[in-house]
Amino acid sequence: MKLGFPEKRGNGFRRKVKGVGFSGFVVMKIDIITIFPDFFRGPLDFGIIRRSGEAGLAEIEVHDLRAFAHDRHKTVDDRPFGGGEGMLLKPEPIFECVEKLGVSNREARVEKGSRETVILLSAQGRRFTQKIAQELSSMKRMVLICGRYEGVDERVGEHLADRELSIGDYVLSGGELGAAVIVDAVVRLIPGALGNEASSRQESFSLYPQSQDGDGPNSTCASGGLLDYPHYTRPADFRGWSVPDVLASGNHEEIRRWRRRMAIEKTLRNRPELIDDAILDDRDTELVKQVKATIQ
Ligand code: SAM
Repeated sequence: MKLGFPEKRGNGFRRKVKGVGFSGFVVMKIDIITIFPDFFRGPLDFGIIRRSGEAGLAEIEVHDLRAFAHDRHKTVDDRPFGGGEGMLLKPEPIFECVEKLGVSNREARVEKGSRETVILLSAQGRRFTQKIAQELSSMKRMVLICGRYEGVDERVGEHLADRELSIGDYVLSGGELGAAVIVDAVVRLIPGALGNEASSRQESFSLYPQSQDGDGPNSTCASGGLLDYPHYTRPADFRGWSVPDVLASGNHEEIRRWRRRMAIEKTLRNRPELIDDAILDDRDTELVKQVKATIQ
């Protein structure tokens, strides 16, 4: 297996990550369709994403949309019907590119249990969340279509993509950053991508219930949809700011309780709307009441 920068290949580039996963197969194949394939020569080459490629957990291929244009100038955009600002990506090259990838048709993809998805990045899409990342991490095929200019001909969203996703309530110049965000958030959730599976359960937003006997030391806990608790490392005293005593106490139950309380406190302060969907036990509900009383 060769690592490093992607190699130029035909219609785009493929990170040389073709390998085998633990089961003997590439676990997830990801295709990204863009007019700027070189944009991805960095974001996909570091850390967990790179290692997942090396381990055969994810194979990422980037396709240059212009390779699917048929005129001399490689035109992929045109003016909007009805007038208005800017240009739109035309439907023909996008349909042709996706059809060439050999994914199943849209009807099959929208069926429950399908493990293939074609996603259009769009500011008008459903907001991408950790819950959707968890759902997508069980796919075996994910195609991401990056829009540009004023957007994409609506027929792509209506008849080709099976979902539209937005990475937040703001408008970006193109779908590439969104695609990189989705790839990162999804690939790290593929079993085996993180060194320690329990760590994804203990992270902000993760909707796994707290396990009674623990996925790790019993002083940690699954976030259950809350924000993560605060973390500290050495030195114990930094510029006079010392690490909370409880963390050095060695009492795992005390540490667990402190962390839970802090997670609840941070969530109530920064993202109170998350509490409604969080997985809380009776002790948590009591803590929520107590913390609410202190911060109001
Ligand atoms: N006219 C569009 C609108 O107002 O919704 C914005 C088009 S934007 C300038 C160009 C492309 O960037 C979009 O087609 C989409 O692929 C991508 N994009 C912009 N904002 C995004 C967001 N919040 N999430 C995901 N993709 C986004």
